[in-house]
Amino acid sequence: MIQQANLSVEPQWQKELKQSFSRLDDLLSFLQISTENIDQHSEARRLFSMRVPKPFAKLMMPGDIDDPLLKQVMPSVQEFETKAGFITDPLDEHNSAQPGLLHKYKSRVLIMFKTGCAVNCRYCFRRHFPYADNSVNKSQLKQHLQYLEDHSEINEVILSGGDPLMAKDDATSWFVSQLELIPNIKRLRIHTRLPVVIPSRITQALCDILKNSRLKTIMVLHINHENEISPELANGLLKLKQANCTLLNQAVLLKNINDNVATQVNLSERLFEVGILPYYLHLFDKVDGASHFNVDEADAKRVYGQMLVELPGFLMPKLVREIGGEASKTPISL
Ligand code: SF4
Repeated sequence: MIQQANLSVEPQWQKELKQSFSRLDDLLSFLQISTENIDQHSEARRLFSMRVPKPFAKLMMPGDIDDPLLKQVMPSVQEFETKAGFITDPLDEHNSAQPGLLHKYKSRVLIMFKTGCAVNCRYCFRRHFPYADNSVNKSQLKQHLQYLEDHSEINEVILSGGDPLMAKDDATSWFVSQLELIPNIKRLRIHTRLPVVIPSRITQALCDILKNSRLKTIMVLHINHENEISPELANGLLKLKQANCTLLNQAVLLKNINDNVATQVNLSERLFEVGILPYYLHLFDKVDGASHFNVDEADAKRVYGQMLVELPGFLMPKLVREIGGEASKTPISL
């Protein structure tokens, strides 16, 4: 804990976080899907625990085991399959010189602000990340601040995790105020999926922090499918826009979830309707236990080529792959 928590009122988003589904039978029962023969799938929670907030589950189609949102979060027996080339640390992140801080891009630094996420996406490239060895505390964050002071070439701080919005607003407020004291820092970017799965996470306090900061603020959401954008999320995004926060989206191309032209076009259109610009479309990071989500590069290029025909340029995300140790994301050329 970074600052004395306000114990008087627990924010709505924290209550909803605590009510998340952690058992597959509970989630499927909620969705009116048969729980027969699910034991083998449920076992995959041993590999990566299950966590699904109820507001996200409510966006799934009752009775549909193939719902594109359910498939992203449902443990599967396929996670036990091992496949050549799929490894535990595809982006080479587990051994950083300064734990909790990654300085792989010249002017940007990525800071692990909070470990853990509100939702455990089965395809996550960090599903094997040793969060327990990388928990965040205030003295570590102070070391990061010192690093930022010592490296004047850094002008942008990216808060990541886990999910940085798992931190309480008073902790975020403190850290932003410290960043503002460092003259070379101009931008603050927050990479998060939390508001997508629990829209009440966009609190007035969070909006005020962003609005009142001298830093230019950017929120990069992680939305893979248009069905993830609820009216509640759209309302929250409006508040962020009013707080002068730039909204971008990154998605991952996922087999049998969003790897077709219509789904990608609908996603881009819907993102724009709610004030978000498509930023990146990532090729799948080859993490062990999630090979069933992988989309071949040739198929990805085919989908992307057709998106170019269907969408205006400003609604086209950049198709990229991340390669461990590379100084930037690698654009995929058609
Ligand atoms: S929210 Fe992001 S970091 Fe967390 S499990 Fe999902 S993909 Fe991974």
